[in-house]
Amino acid sequence: MKILVTGGAGFIGSAVARRAIALGHSVVVVDVLTYAANLDNLLSVEASPLYHFLQADICDGPAMAAVFAQHQPDAVMHLAAESHVDRSIEGPLAFVQTNIVGTAVLLEESRRYLASLAADRRDAFRFHHVSTDEVFGALGAEGAFDEETPYRPNSPYSSSKASSDMLVRAWGETFGLPFVISNCSNNYGPYQFPEKLIPVVILNALAGRPIPVYGTGGNVRDWLFVEDHADALLTVLGRGVGGETYCIGGEAERSNLQLVHMLCALLDELRPGNKPYADLITFVQDRPGHDFRYAINTSKISRELGWRPAVDIEAGLRSTVEWYLANEAWWRAIAERGFKGGRLGLLASA
Ligand code: NAD
Repeated sequence: MKILVTGGAGFIGSAVARRAIALGHSVVVVDVLTYAANLDNLLSVEASPLYHFLQADICDGPAMAAVFAQHQPDAVMHLAAESHVDRSIEGPLAFVQTNIVGTAVLLEESRRYLASLAADRRDAFRFHHVSTDEVFGALGAEGAFDEETPYRPNSPYSSSKASSDMLVRAWGETFGLPFVISNCSNNYGPYQFPEKLIPVVILNALAGRPIPVYGTGGNVRDWLFVEDHADALLTVLGRGVGGETYCIGGEAERSNLQLVHMLCALLDELRPGNKPYADLITFVQDRPGHDFRYAINTSKISRELGWRPAVDIEAGLRSTVEWYLANEAWWRAIAERGFKGGRLGLLASA
C-alpha cells in the first residue's frame, strides 16, 4: 500500500512510518514540524525509496489537495495532532485548530480525492483516524473502557480528540468516506518527546533534578509500548472492519507513582548513582481536571483481529530506559533547539 501518514515525524507517527516501511509499504509522511516533531526519528528510513516526506499543515486545504493529487495514496493514517494535555490547559485553541479544524480539512480533502478515484481503488481506500482512550473520560477504581463506552472527555486535549472522532464518523456516514477509528491508551518507548511522563522521569533523574509526580501519584494509566501500538495500527488499517472502532491497550495498568518507582529502579541498575534515584521524587501540584484512571478492555481487537501486545511493561520500560541512555545525542539536540521543559498547565489562579 501507499500510506499517507500525517504527524509522521512525531513519536507514534514515526514508529508507524518505520514499521510500515519495514513491512514493504510506501509511506508519505506529512508533517508541519511543530516543536514535537523530529526528523531524527525517521533517520533509519530516510534513505529508503519507500519513504517520502512533505512539510505541510493539515489545516491547509490546498496543500492537502496537492499531497493527494501528487501521491495518490491507498490509505490515510491520521496521527497529526497537538498531543500534550498540559499544553491544552495552557493554550487550548491550538488544539481546537489542529485536532478539530485540521481533521475536518483532511477529511474534506480525502473525500474530494476519493471521488476522483476509479471504483476499485475507491472501494479499497481507507481513512484511519488514530485517537485516544482519553475521549471516554475518567474511570473509578473498577471497570475498563470499551468500544461502547460513552464519550465524556474532560480536558481540552481529549475533547478536541473526541470532536475529531465524531467528525470522522460523520464523514463516513454522510459522505461515504471509508474509515476506521482506534482509541489507544498511553504510549511509551523510544523517541518520545521529553515533555511526557516517562522521558521526563528518565532525563530529570539523569540530571539529578527533582522528579515531579502530580498530586499523590495515585492516578492510574494503562501503558502500551509504542512499537506494539504501531503494529496494532497497521493491523487495524489492514484488517479492521470499515466503520468500526477498536480500543487498543497494553494490559498494563500502573499508578504514576508505581511507574516512576519502576523507572528509578531500572536507572539504579543501569546507571547507578551515589543515591537511589527515587530520592529525587517530588510531589507537585496536581493537574487541573486530572482524570483518575484509564483502563482498556482489549477483547474486541484480540478476538476479531488477533492482536495482543507483545511487549510486557517490564521489558518495554527496560528497553526504553536503555534507549534513552544510548541516545543522548537525540535528546540533547532537542534541548539545544531551545526546549527547556518545566511545568505547564497550572491555572493562573492556582
Ligand atoms: P506527537 O506530539 O509526538 O506528534 C504529533 C505530530 O503531529 C508532530 O510531529 C507534529 O509536528 C505533527 N503536527 C501537529 N500539528 C500538525 C499540523 N497542523 N499539520 C501537520 N502535522 C502536524 O504525538 P504522538 O504522541 O505521536 O501522538 C500521535 C497521535 O496519536 C495523536 O493524534 C494522539 O492524539 C494519538 N495518541 C497518542 C497517545 C500517546 O500516548 N502519545 C495515545 C493515544 C493516541
